[in-house]
This record gives sequence, C-alpha cells and structure tokens, in this order.
Amino acid sequence: MADDNGFTKTTTMPGTERKCPNCGGTLTYNANAQKLYCSLCGKYKEISYGTHEDVEVKGIAYNEIFNANSATPGIKCKILSCANCGAELIYDSAQVSGRCPFCGSTNIALTAAATSIMRPNGIIPFSIDEDKARGCFREHIKRKLFIPYKISRCTLDNLFPVYLPFFGFDANTKSSYVIEIGYYDSDGNIHYKTCNGTYEKHFQEFPLSASSKVYNSQVDKIRQFDPLSARPFNPDYMAGYYAERNSTSLKHGFEKVQYYITGKLNKLIPKDALRKFRGDRYRNLDFKTKYSDVTYKYILAPVYLASFTYKGKKYDVAINGSTGDVACDPPSARKFFIALLIILGIIAVGAFIAYLIYNAGI
Ligand SMILES: [Zn+2]
Ligand SMILES: [Zn+2]
Repeated sequence: MADDNGFTKTTTMPGTERKCPNCGGTLTYNANAQKLYCSLCGKYKEISYGTHEDVEVKGIAYNEIFNANSATPGIKCKILSCANCGAELIYDSAQVSGRCPFCGSTNIALTAAATSIMRPNGIIPFSIDEDKARGCFREHIKRKLFIPYKISRCTLDNLFPVYLPFFGFDANTKSSYVIEIGYYDSDGNIHYKTCNGTYEKHFQEFPLSASSKVYNSQVDKIRQFDPLSARPFNPDYMAGYYAERNSTSLKHGFEKVQYYITGKLNKLIPKDALRKFRGDRYRNLDFKTKYSDVTYKYILAPVYLASFTYKGKKYDVAINGSTGDVACDPPSARKFFIALLIILGIIAVGAFIAYLIYNAGI
C-alpha cells in the first residue's frame, strides 16, 4: 500500500546487533567516540558501513521513486507518537527515555504494528555529547552582551537529543523566458524591447526541513549543517536516540524547493538578461522552468532541544549536535544598561559643570 511519500514497496532493514560482545549489555551510540558503547563494561564497538564501503552520501534519483516498477528503499519500524504534541518518533533501541523530546510528555504510545517509513539515506551523527552541549550553552550565554546577570548563571532545565529530518535536493534547471529590456537614449528617455532567452542553472544541496512542525522556536537558527559530515545511513548512529519521522512528504518537499528556486530564478534571470542584452533596466519577466536530473537526499541531523527558566518564564534553546552552535533568545537587559548610561552621562555632565563653576570661581 502506498503511503504519504508514494512508496509502494518496502524492505525491512537488516537487524543490527545491539548486544555487547563482552558482557551482553545493550550498546548505545556514544557521541564523543562516535562508536557504539556499553555502559556496563565500558567496551566500544566500531560502527561499520556494511555494504557501503565509501562514506559519501549519494543522492537518489527523484523521478525513479514514483515509478511503480522500481523498488523503493524503505524501512519497517514501530513508531512512537506523543499524545500531547503529536510528534511521531522513530527509534532503534529500547534504551531511549520514555519522554517526548519535543514537549517532555511521558504520554507517548507505540504503534501496534510496524509501519513502513521512508528510509533515510544519510545521517549526520551526534559528535557532541550532553556534557559538551551544556558547556556550549554556558559559553554562548557568557558571550552574550546585555543580558541579565542571573541568566549567565542559568542552567538548562532539560536537554533532549533528537535527529531531525531534512531533504537535500540537487537539480538542473532550464528556464525559457520573455522579458522587456529597457535602454536609455541620449535624452535620458527609456525604450523597452521584448527579448527571449534561456537560462540554465544547477542547484546543489538545496536543504529543506522535512518536518512541518515547529516544536522549538530556536531550531531554525542552527540548521547550518555541514553536508560533508553526513554518512550513509546506519541505524547504529540512532542506538539510544529518537529521530523525528518526516511529516513533509518528499513530493511536497520538492514542491517547496521548486517554489524557493523560482524565487531565486526571479532574480537571477533578469541579471543574466541585462548582461546578455546589454540593457539598463527590465520589466515584465515571464518564465517557465524545466527540471532534470533531480536527486534527493533524506538526511537525519542531530539537534539538542532544551530550555531554561528565568523569572518563571521558559525560554527555548536549540544546540546543533554536530557543530555545537547554540541558539536562544534570552530577555535583554539593554533597557537597564541604557538607563545606567544615561545616569552616568548626567553625573559626568554635572561634574563637568561643577568643574567649570569651580574654575570660574577662582
Ligand atoms: Zn558490555
Ligand atoms: Zn510531545
């Protein structure tokens, strides 16, 4: 049966060994070592790529996935859904905490049957562990100017690691356009001429969030992931972690990308036409774009969702689990500093006047 993403066939992901070869304990992914780790006996286990010898994440041809004859890579897994915020979570280990990483609710339930979901083809593993993430937050807050002093002493109330879904699209575009190009004559009057042309452009790694839900107001600010840090998907990197299931379908994702690309072409085409036709101005651009060689990557990227409380109010924090970038919007103490500067200014002016009077008196 086809799901939201148009998938018709699924293959079950081969089971991964989660038992510690040393003591039989459960292995989880360790961000510091980027290996599997047994907390019982301290043994590390390398993460293998299986059949993927190379570490480059390859794009998948977009058109092929909607062709019923081609087997679509999918995975079967059970999904956790949060009754409180509606988040749908994928996980690959029984060792994850029983709390929703988005809202903290414990009211999460497992779907009864294994559901087929789209298989990610890449993952950016966590390389910053929770202690380091807390350290990144402290450093970040220390460097912020004009924030109340007490905030610099704040610690995070909670810290949930979660992999968020992203699509990356590559596409060739060929646009045929009609545009009116204007030329100034010697008297400074403008004359327009209708011109036709084609414009070709390759768009690479156009990143797009594959989640239509916003759980944390800061996440958008730390979405600068290095695509080179992505590895071919291996569920070992998820051992002990949740990943959000994509709530945007690939088809909808590509429609969004086309919308953004059209916006970019709206600026690029006139620029190119003005150069090509040596014009001074332009108006009435009309163009149609054909897409070819479209490939996509479906990548899980690591984020820590967190918050802190100040004067009874909760503030969202997001930390990039790969780069350590922190985003938060603490209340500003700017008003206090401005008031302080005004008071100091008044004192300085008063002192100067007193000095002048004192000197004049002599
Ligand atoms: Zn062990
Ligand atoms: Zn929730």
